[in-house]
Amino acid sequence: MTKTVVIVGGGSAGWLTAGIIAARHNPLDEGGQGARVILLESPDVANLGVGEGTWPTMRDTLRQIGISEVDFLRSCDVSFKQGSQFIDWQRGEGESYYHPFVPPAGYGSANLAAHWLDRRGDINFVDAVCPQGKVCDLGLAPKTPQTPEYAFGLNYGYHLNAGKFVELLKCHCVEKLGVDYQLGHVDQVLSAENGDIAALCLSNGEKMSGDLFVDCTGFAALLIGKHYQVPFVSQRDCLFNDTALAVQVNHASEDTPIASCTKSTAQSSGWIWDIALPTRRGIGYVFSSQHLSLEKAEDELQRYLDADPALAKDAPSPRKITFQPGHRQTFWHKNCVAVGVSAGFVEPLEASALVLIEKSAEFLSNNLPQDRKAMTVVAKRFNEIVGKYWVDIIDFLKLHYVLSERTDSDYWQDHSLIETMPDSLCDSLELWRSQVPWVSDSSNRAELFSAASVQYVLYGMGFVTEINSSRYRGWGKDAELADRLMRDNLGKTEAFMASQPTNRDLLNLVRGG
Ligand SMILES: Cc1cc2nc3c(=O)[nH]c(=O)nc-3n(C[C@H](O)[C@H](O)[C@H](O)COP(=O)(O)OP(=O)(O)OC[C@H]3O[C@@H](n4cnc5c(N)ncnc54)[C@H](O)[C@@H]3O)c2cc1C
Repeated sequence: MTKTVVIVGGGSAGWLTAGIIAARHNPLDEGGQGARVILLESPDVANLGVGEGTWPTMRDTLRQIGISEVDFLRSCDVSFKQGSQFIDWQRGEGESYYHPFVPPAGYGSANLAAHWLDRRGDINFVDAVCPQGKVCDLGLAPKTPQTPEYAFGLNYGYHLNAGKFVELLKCHCVEKLGVDYQLGHVDQVLSAENGDIAALCLSNGEKMSGDLFVDCTGFAALLIGKHYQVPFVSQRDCLFNDTALAVQVNHASEDTPIASCTKSTAQSSGWIWDIALPTRRGIGYVFSSQHLSLEKAEDELQRYLDADPALAKDAPSPRKITFQPGHRQTFWHKNCVAVGVSAGFVEPLEASALVLIEKSAEFLSNNLPQDRKAMTVVAKRFNEIVGKYWVDIIDFLKLHYVLSERTDSDYWQDHSLIETMPDSLCDSLELWRSQVPWVSDSSNRAELFSAASVQYVLYGMGFVTEINSSRYRGWGKDAELADRLMRDNLGKTEAFMASQPTNRDLLNLVRGG
């Protein structure tokens, strides 16, 4: 049986994995039915310390781990995130669109996109099918003070301080869930005869053995990469961005509004993220070093900061982070499974890293192998599923670029070259020219991005699907339903705009209470 799980690495991947496993397998069970969960962290290697945007899945994850939402909101400088706004992606002329977390009205039973395309008039897709764009325009919250913990009026995730988040997870895992936290730098890996990891040798001379080893060592990829040499699949030819300049800037005043979504503004050779927390904003330029020099990237970032009067004027120097865009060929090898950046990382355009950690850790926790033979089967399935997640992530991120009409730099021109596009994305685009993306057209059961997300990006970017309504059975009946849903949506939008507090007001109330 997997009695001892050793997680190496104490960044958000390590602590989320520890929490998700320990919450289910109860290391504190004195009857011996639980699993011992050890988290080992090097005192010498710092965490990444970025990763400030989550998906709505984080609400369920935190609830399952047993963290109160109010504690989380207060201790991690959290704000509510209702999606992303993409600015200047289509033409670079100040235009923008939303990818919200709320799916189109009636999603699953009525495909409103087809009907919106058929007779769209002058209302944009998001506003026709969902209230969240208008709510984000006004900086409103997704819930009211009366809404219970983790419940919502409008679906939401979070913006958070990554360092404080790791501290909260660590305290909770150690004090409430019985995770055994140890400091130690892994120097060497000892192998068993079958090639499994038998034990880790630490620089203080100690050895640590276990049944399953989770590699959460970030870019070091100590076990999956350095020890096992599992090949790395580069995505540099598809998603060019490999450098980030990150900076944290205070608000100009204490009552500056807090945006309800991540703002992503396209630049000459990448894009700038802008995440508002109650006390400050996390802003960064992620760009391609093949297309832009560091100095020019710094200038573009500085121009962005200077143009915003809501930011304090004493911004510190940005921190530079470099990365190889890509992922491992497989993620579970022998008795070692990689979770987090050690498994792979591509630019944070849709904040897909933390959600992949949550999904990987959940799978691991739900399928903690009962014996070594079962582990081989579980590993195979894990590799299939996580491999499909990566296909989905890469296709979806690249979609944002290939739909752009920008030609103002080599970067944007290179993104439109067919040889930089995955075949799977080319196939999908071919389909979407004559057919609206829908739940039933996916070949991928393990998708992270739903057809709703694809619709928001496609139609937000001005993509046109040529609808032939006579081909659809029951079009007339569906059209009546679609009309009703879109009319209702306008009413709901008005109601939300009138009833929701601002993000700032709700967060002040929670944090002050
Ligand atoms: C610029 C940027 C922006 C991002 N934005 C987002 C976002 O908005 N949303 C999102 O979901 N994700 C985002 N991410 C990704 C996110 O930051 C990571 O997924 C997350 O921080 C998890 O990192 P990690 O725990 O895998 O690695 P790390 O945080 O790097 O942790 C590695 C751990 O391994 C330990 N370690 C290393 N070597 C050893 C050793 N020899 N012995 C023992 N321990 C060792 C270290 O001490 C450390 O504790 C972003 C990433 C970048 C680069």
